[in-house]
Amino acid sequence: MTNISEPAWFPIALRLDGVRVLVVGGGMIAANKVRLLLAHRARVEVIAGRLDPEMQRWEDDGRITRIAPTADETTLRAAMPGCRLVYAATDDRDVNREAAGIARGMNIPVCAVDDPQPSTFITPAQIHRGLVRIAISTGGAAPVLARRLREQVESTIPEGTGALAVFMQQQREHVGTACPDISRRRQVWETFLDGTGAQAARNGDTTRARAVLDDIIATTATRGEVWLVGAGPGDPDLLTLRALHLMQNADCVLYDQLLSPALLDRVRRDAELVFVGKQRNRHTMPQEEINAELIRRAQAGQRVLRLKGGDPFVFGRGGEEIEALLESAIPFQVVPGITAANGCAAYAGIPLTHRDCAQACLFVTGHARADGTLHLPWDSMARPGQTVVIYMGVSALPALCAKLIEHGLPPQWPAAIVERGTRADQRVLTGTLGNLPTQAAQAGVASPALIIVGEVVRHRVLSPA
Ligand code: SAH
Repeated sequence: MTNISEPAWFPIALRLDGVRVLVVGGGMIAANKVRLLLAHRARVEVIAGRLDPEMQRWEDDGRITRIAPTADETTLRAAMPGCRLVYAATDDRDVNREAAGIARGMNIPVCAVDDPQPSTFITPAQIHRGLVRIAISTGGAAPVLARRLREQVESTIPEGTGALAVFMQQQREHVGTACPDISRRRQVWETFLDGTGAQAARNGDTTRARAVLDDIIATTATRGEVWLVGAGPGDPDLLTLRALHLMQNADCVLYDQLLSPALLDRVRRDAELVFVGKQRNRHTMPQEEINAELIRRAQAGQRVLRLKGGDPFVFGRGGEEIEALLESAIPFQVVPGITAANGCAAYAGIPLTHRDCAQACLFVTGHARADGTLHLPWDSMARPGQTVVIYMGVSALPALCAKLIEHGLPPQWPAAIVERGTRADQRVLTGTLGNLPTQAAQAGVASPALIIVGEVVRHRVLSPA
């Protein structure tokens, strides 16, 4: 879902054991690649005049073969057929480019080291834990950044991950026989990974790991559940760790238009994404239909993630959804999210309370009824000493401001509107009850936007650049 303007590099994992790979170059740059290739049991052939001492040792030990001393065109053309990969790794960019050109002509994937332009593949930075490989690539744009990211990821992957992968490989057949159903199988493995069995496998205690696994197989029934999760107002960095964890484990995700694509990007790739919001030729799916869909899927054994903008219990109809789930005896969890008021206030630099001017904060909905009327507690809203945050109020903004003035707040009373708060394209307008509606109309402010009314708007503070 990320907007890719550059053609992206497609990551795959390649089998190299026993296959020929040609390396052009014999210096340190070449040695770095050959070390990787040997670790993957490739048959490395080298074209180089002089070999770096490490390369020389490999040649002496018969681990690599030097097939020619000079990388001229005839030699390159003769050497490449039958190779699975070519590395052009001399310290001469022209030689590398020539070799790359010949390889491209033969349709053999080629990497000119540190030179993405003539290359048809690049070598990502890698993390190894036994069978587990994590590759990080910036598409050749910033190798130093890739290495830095590798360090960050490296420190979060436990040492025993390789042992864990081997254990899981050994038990695949056993689990497959015990649980023929694929979603049940995945559930078993996920429960296993969350529990003490995974730790035992990481430590090499396979007997204990197997006992825990069998216990899980015996006890996990195919029972679906629903997770009602708040995704925050838009910036994916505002997801809770729990939300992220569940997004990585759900079988399907029901979402609506408040969810930014950046958030949906964090959902497990093979989870089914189900849009239940407003469609072009159709109104929003009625709440009863959404409830029924949640129940139907959970009863079919799925782990259903109902992902909501902000917090599910703040103008999110989360309460209605869990009542329906309870009636059908579907197990559920509710995970709070950062509500729009918190997110927009923080990112706009407007405090919601302030010792000097706001001892309370009121959240209200500015959504008009079907007949266009607004029924709000105007008297308690039109008071000094507090902040009023209005959700869903863009279209009713003029009416809202007029009503607040009519109920006693001065037209100069501060007010702000935050459009697409916390997102990259957030806009903030500040003004007064008297002039905010005109400002917002002129700027073309559209939903989702949040209105903040009160003297706190005057305390807006922005970080120095
Ligand atoms: N459950 C959500 C609110 C859903 S109601 C929450 O806790 O935030 C939808 C309204 O929330 C929108 O009309 C808008 O007023 C507000 N909203 C949600 N996300 C927003 C955002 N990123 N910026 C501004 N307002 C937002």
